[in-house]
Amino acid sequence: MPKAMPEPQPEPIPHMAPEEFRRLGERLLGWIADYWTRVEGLPVASRAAPGDVLRALPEFPPEAGEDLAAALLADLERIVLPGLTHWQHPMFFGFFPANISAPSVLGELLSAGLGVQGMLWATSPACTELEMRALDWLGHALGLPDAFLFRGGGGGVIDGTASEAVVSAITAARHRALRALSESSRRDAAGRLTLYTSTQAHSSIVKGAMVTGLALDAADRARVRLIDTDPAGAMDADALARAIDADRAAGLVPFFVSATLGTTGATAVDPLASIARVLARPPEPRPWLHVDAAHAGAMLVCPEFRSPAAGVEHADSFTFNPHKWLLTNFDCNCLWTRDPASLTASLSIVPEYLRNAASDAGSVVDYRDWHVPLGRRFRALKLWLVMRHYGLAGLRAYIREHVRLAGLVESWVRIEPRLELAAPRTMNLVVFRPTPRPGESPGATDARARALLDRLNASGKMYLTHTTLPPEVADGPPRFVLRLCIGAVSTREEHVREAWRLILDALE
Ligand code: PLP
Repeated sequence: MPKAMPEPQPEPIPHMAPEEFRRLGERLLGWIADYWTRVEGLPVASRAAPGDVLRALPEFPPEAGEDLAAALLADLERIVLPGLTHWQHPMFFGFFPANISAPSVLGELLSAGLGVQGMLWATSPACTELEMRALDWLGHALGLPDAFLFRGGGGGVIDGTASEAVVSAITAARHRALRALSESSRRDAAGRLTLYTSTQAHSSIVKGAMVTGLALDAADRARVRLIDTDPAGAMDADALARAIDADRAAGLVPFFVSATLGTTGATAVDPLASIARVLARPPEPRPWLHVDAAHAGAMLVCPEFRSPAAGVEHADSFTFNPHKWLLTNFDCNCLWTRDPASLTASLSIVPEYLRNAASDAGSVVDYRDWHVPLGRRFRALKLWLVMRHYGLAGLRAYIREHVRLAGLVESWVRIEPRLELAAPRTMNLVVFRPTPRPGESPGATDARARALLDRLNASGKMYLTHTTLPPEVADGPPRFVLRLCIGAVSTREEHVREAWRLILDALE
């Protein structure tokens, strides 16, 4: 008889023991809290050159596991921090903010620690129902009509980003538009659907058209119309009406309009009520109206800042990012719709392995039907913690302070002869540029604006970004402008005064 071979013993798997997790976790939480305290002393923008971080990292992963407690914090300091632009720095005024707050970070940690999948109600009922409640709370806090909330027959969902939300909205709108047609004309009409947004809309709208097959690439305008704006950057509703009429006359099927509440360039506000009137005209089916309030939606928590949203009651969907200006760390985008049936009908597919009694009975919300991904984590926890920690009064006070500070900067620009406002201020963004000198060409003014931006950012003391806005005169070149957005959680009046001093010092 051959001798029995000894059974091979499996390698021990080096899971982190709960005690070690607790110890390292406490150190990391402490490190994060310290980072928030000392971030003000770091240069705002990373000075890393391309490849610096790659060179500092080993080319291959370790074969044997390492002691994180010994190595991690040192590597964070040595490799990661120098490669960061510090979005939580009080002198960060670039893009739109990416707010975080301690309660939201704790919510994120809870979500990771619980590690549940919320794709179906049945896979974790709390994950779904807490999200439903949080979205009703937040929608109510923004003053959205009840028709957008679960309690009014609509409902909301958390996506990663506004870019994902618009893909869902386009998909729902396409479904609704085609379902309204007879079966025989549907297939043909699918190739004639047309989408509208403004020249100042965020690129995610055209990208949504690309993802959903309406545009072959970013420049394809066969079924995408970019409507002109007024000088302030708001969509011209009459121009929208003309474009829709011309398309209908050409046999096309206008089905989707995305209006922006707070454009990325200059926080301009499209006239929702006028746009809704354009869309309400016959013939049926009426195009779907989506409102992209990615950044500006946050300010609707303050009743006194709600007038730009007049007309939102006519929208079919509304989206905004608490991860920009409402204290909730990335990613957290909220999409509400008054027509969840079109959304779920366009995105629902039920393989056998996901079937369960609650879904079959139709008695629950299954969020996998509300967006493209199937799997989803418990993001509602961070929103829940933020709303509970700050309360609506706290959220309002926070937004009001940023708007007040932006108002200060606006008032200083108005009285500084070397600078001018390049767009009306509607919220927490001030858009400005050097005042053109007599006889100076637009290109020369632009060059001075660029140089000013570069000087300020190179100082490491503050961080601004730029954009171009439409020309004042129809055939002129786009204008290069600086954007100063006040939205970092730690920014106080002293920081804004310091930023202004730096701007004045950097002016030629
Ligand atoms: N819409 C507007 C008006 C934006 O300003 C932005 C980003 O700044 C987006 C959409 C895209 O946001 P997200 O990164 O959530 O896709």
